[in-house]
Amino acid sequence: MKPIYLSFAFLGTLVVASASLNFRWLTESQHWLRAVISNESGSFNGDVVEKRIATQLLSARHEVHQAALKPDDALREWLGKRIENGTMGDLSSLTSAVQMQFPNYVRLAVCSLQSPSVEDLLQKAFEWGSQSEKSFTHQAIVASARSARLGFECVIVTGERLPDFQPGQLSRGHDNFYILCPLCHRGQACEVPPLMRSVTLECPQCHRPYVMLAVDTKGRYHHANEFLTGYAPPARFPAGITRLNEMLLIWNSVVQSIRYVLDDADGNEKNDAWQTAAETQKLGTGDCEDSSIYLADWLIARGFNARVALGHYAERGGHAWVIVQLDGETYLLECTNPEVNTSRPPLIKDVGSRYVPDCTFDREGFYSRKNSSVPWDGDYWSQAKWQRVIPTPDRTVAKAVADTAK
Ligand SMILES: [Zn+2]
Repeated sequence: MKPIYLSFAFLGTLVVASASLNFRWLTESQHWLRAVISNESGSFNGDVVEKRIATQLLSARHEVHQAALKPDDALREWLGKRIENGTMGDLSSLTSAVQMQFPNYVRLAVCSLQSPSVEDLLQKAFEWGSQSEKSFTHQAIVASARSARLGFECVIVTGERLPDFQPGQLSRGHDNFYILCPLCHRGQACEVPPLMRSVTLECPQCHRPYVMLAVDTKGRYHHANEFLTGYAPPARFPAGITRLNEMLLIWNSVVQSIRYVLDDADGNEKNDAWQTAAETQKLGTGDCEDSSIYLADWLIARGFNARVALGHYAERGGHAWVIVQLDGETYLLECTNPEVNTSRPPLIKDVGSRYVPDCTFDREGFYSRKNSSVPWDGDYWSQAKWQRVIPTPDRTVAKAVADTAK
């Protein structure tokens, strides 16, 4: 992951000053001006004028074959308060304030228009709109009647706003996003290179991994934990079975029923897709993370504290396995070896020495080692050593996973 360095381009801020419209002028032309203002400001309705300005911007962009700008309600509200409180400042300080408050804008243009008549204001808005950048996506408009009945003004902010991070969007080819680091709460632009099949995003500010994504069999990205859909195959267990034996039975069933195959015979990571438990059970095949997801999902559904671990196994390189915490012991369940003795409890102290994890995940979230340069000591659970991130659910993606599981 390479962070995009935000560059703010302040595109020719257009200021239409009202130097001629001052009190002295008002006194001299009192009669005429009062007539205009009382007609117009008597019925001044900010919402209506803002809508008319938005229409002007729309037709201006339409004329130069540019897409309509979407309203940014949060920016509009913030701007309105600032103007209401009289803290708008000059255009340059306003621009800096927008930039501070809304870091999801990578390009920005701010203008303030003033005029004795609404019609003239609309005309100026049209001229401003026809100069706006093609890449711009959003707008916020605040119109008001000026103090001392000096006419009307509006402040327009337009800019290019990065889409909020959503794994589902990623699959559709949007690779630039704005994302809030859930660990240090600082916002940042991020770029995900195309064709990555699984990717961990690391915060450029607090240097901790905070998102782990993988591609499903339909080519869509999901948070790793969303592959644990809550699936358990129909199964009956002997009455009075111990929890340890129940775990061993489930493990044995997965090891014996899933044949280990690589997604891509050439080992090409670009073609590596993750399967849900239901898909793996149906196919009867999968690679290490597929069988681990199947096993962990089933164990979690039966009430076990289980996680999928991703890391490396000795000389074999990247690998996935399952860890389970039961009665104060940690077990490490390997799913890719049909020769494994599934009647012997795989205590981590007996079998775990060559497995070194980078991260783990369960149904709720994703855990990464706080300090991966410290030698691995086999502790999979300590909060002092593991950082947990619970991703914001993306409803469309969660639904897609549920559909796949049917
Ligand atoms: Zn951070």
